[in-house]
Formats: sequence, structure tokens, C-alpha cells
Amino acid sequence: MKLYIVATPIGNLDDMSGRAITTLKSVDLIAAEDTRHSRTLMQHYGIDTPLVAYHDHNESDASESLVAKLLAGTSVALISDAGTPLISDPGYRLVKLAREQGVEVIPIPGASALTAALSVSGLPTDRFLFIGFLPSKQRAREAALHAVAQETATIVCYESRHRIAESVRDMASVLGGERNATIARELTKRFEQTLQGTLAELSEALESKQITEKGEFVVMIKGAEAAGPSYDHAELMSALLVELPPRKAAGVVSQITGESRKVLYDIALSLKESGTSKPGGK
Ligand code: SAM
Repeated sequence: MKLYIVATPIGNLDDMSGRAITTLKSVDLIAAEDTRHSRTLMQHYGIDTPLVAYHDHNESDASESLVAKLLAGTSVALISDAGTPLISDPGYRLVKLAREQGVEVIPIPGASALTAALSVSGLPTDRFLFIGFLPSKQRAREAALHAVAQETATIVCYESRHRIAESVRDMASVLGGERNATIARELTKRFEQTLQGTLAELSEALESKQITEKGEFVVMIKGAEAAGPSYDHAELMSALLVELPPRKAAGVVSQITGESRKVLYDIALSLKESGTSKPGGK
């Protein structure tokens, strides 16, 4: 039987897809992160399929029992409290085990705070690195940020209201306050906000409570500038001076590296003076 991974809304109930509703109505069993929480959603859409608990604390046992049911012919849908299961939510073990056992796993796509936030971030989205939640302890959080400091793709993380201010402060101190970033708050809900600025500005706005810490947050940070190729100007000049006079060699190296002709000409003269080049011209 099939295992369906079903996305549910991240705030606005109208974001539930027709296919998600049909799937949840038609399966034999729904595995939900929090059955009480999901009951509200079920009632809203008139879904009366039985719910079973599947969360961080019973993931291993529940996966085995659900896969056994799937193999016995029961169809199952997995949902989380909000958004797409497995995206910083339980489900990985279940999907892994189901696939290992030859169960077909079908996505029913829909809302995710990750893609919703990125789509309005104004930051490059051609490449991004999603790092989930940063560690809650400051030292571990700083280490996690150091690990992505040279990343050139847009960096995306989830954050809770309890830590948003300290996290953004650490981002500014580790990645540099001048980096551009976007904070998306309470997406699809009544007090939805998307704020752009440098990390220093956003940190200041959070510290001074200009941005309220209430709600759920996605933080997106522009990637590091890619380091250009590095050239050893003296080595290049030395090689070219074998065939070319200093002025011509400086012109060629300037075109390749972007360094000024004057600087390169001076390098040529000092190479000649120190006898470390074999100039071929005057
Ligand atoms: N699986 C979910 C998804 O696909 O978005 C994410 C689950 S994760 C446990 C919850 C985190 O997602 C929140 O702490 C917050 O960082 C982010 N999030 C969820 N809903 C959000 C919303 N409406 N606006 C902004 N961030 C949200």
C-alpha cells in the first residue's frame, strides 16, 4: 500500500490543497505529529480518518508499526503540525524504512515556511542552503554559523520566538553586520511581516523591539561574496619578462588580473633590479 507525505497549511487554512483533503479522506490511517492539534484541521475539512501519533519520541517504534501496516495493505498519510513533513519535522525514519521495504511513497506537496519565505525574500534563490534550526546554546550556534561563513549560496534557517533576537545578534557578529538578510515572520497569518536589511540593522530592530519577537520566523542571509581567483603578480611578470619588455608585460598581466599597469610596471622594475627576471626587452 502507499504512504502519502501530505503538506498542510503553515497558518492560513485556505492553503490546504484539494488533493491533500482528498488523500486524507481516502487513506485508512493518518499519522500525525500531534493528534490533538491535527484534530482541529481534520474537523475543519470534515475528515474523519483515524489518527495515530508519530512524533520525535516514538519515531522508531511508530515507523516499524506503520510500515508493518502498510505491508499488510493499510494506506497511510503522514502529516505534521504545519507545513511539509520531514522539513525540520518528523518523518525521515518512516520514509526511509518504507522505501527500504518497497513501499511506494507519494508526496502531496503544499505549504512550507522554507519555500514561502524564500519566494518573497528578495535574496538569490538559484542556490540556497537550508540549515534547519540553529543550536540553542550560544557557543554551538556560533560554531554552526562559522561553518557556513564562506557559503556563497543564500543561507536559510528556522527560528523560534524564544531565540530570534540572540540568533540574529550572533549572525551579525559571526557573518558580519553588513550582510544583507531577510526575516519572514508569521507567513500567511494575520500579522505576517517580511523585513529586509543588513544583519546589524535587523539585530538592532529586534533588540529595540521594533520587530516584535512574537510568532514564527524564517531567517535568510545572503551568501558570502565568492572570492575571485588569486594571482601571484610577481610570478606572472617574471615569466612574461622573459619574452616582453616591462611595459608590454605589465599591460598583458593587467588585462588578465585587473591589477593596475603602474603597480605591475613597478614590480617589473624591482624584479629587474633584484635580477630575478630575465627581461627580453627594454
Ligand atoms: N515542516 C514545517 C514547514 O514545512 O515549514 C516547519 C516545521 S518547524 C518545526 C517550525 C518552524 O517553521 C517554526 O519555528 C518557524 O521557524 C517556521 N515556520 C512555520 N510556520 C511559519 C510561518 N507561518 N511563518 C514563518 N515561519 C514559520
